[in-house]
Amino acid sequence: GDVLKKRKIAVLGSRSVGKSSLVIKFIEDNFVDSYYPTIENTFSKSINYNGVEYECDIIDTAGQDEYTILNSKHAIGIHGFVLVYSVTSRKSFEMIQIVYDKIINYCGINSIPCVIVGSKIDLQPSRSRQVNSNEGKELATQVHAAWVETSAKANTNVAQVFELCLGEIEKRSPGSKSE
Ligand code: GDP
Repeated sequence: GDVLKKRKIAVLGSRSVGKSSLVIKFIEDNFVDSYYPTIENTFSKSINYNGVEYECDIIDTAGQDEYTILNSKHAIGIHGFVLVYSVTSRKSFEMIQIVYDKIINYCGINSIPCVIVGSKIDLQPSRSRQVNSNEGKELATQVHAAWVETSAKANTNVAQVFELCLGEIEKRSPGSKSE
């Protein structure tokens, strides 16, 4: 019979880049336009990817900065990582490499299943973009991660984030395929 496929995904990045908004949009299809700093939350959702059903735990973290020590809960037993920056914040983009390095150093491996997400693209007409698409793509290529730009507010590429993440996870674990 079919084996239940459980996957744990951690969402990391600077504070207020829109991690919670992205996760809540995906889980509840709801966008709340009020800011409150997140406490950590774990959401469960079944995701169909390539015709396979995955029971996913999505950990929405409170956010990191350069001084944050990586929480073992955000590294051990995690199958895939979603690293979020805002296209309107250069500093949040720089934080991606820092968080990425902390994860690979902690885990003692040289690459992780990962999606790099440039969020809040709906804001770019009104506020100037601080990170262009090519920079995002280049970073993703360097660290062998997937990359996508999103808007939780406009519902752009929200589900794709988690599908890409499952893709990265499955790519690196041959033998976990259902056939
Ligand atoms: P977190 O700290 O990374 O979890 O960020 P939040 O999800 O709490 O979002 C921080 C702020 O950015 C909130 O005021 C959100 O409403 C806003 N925000 C999040 N995603 C988007 C988006 O896609 N577009 C716009 N315009 N604002 C967003």
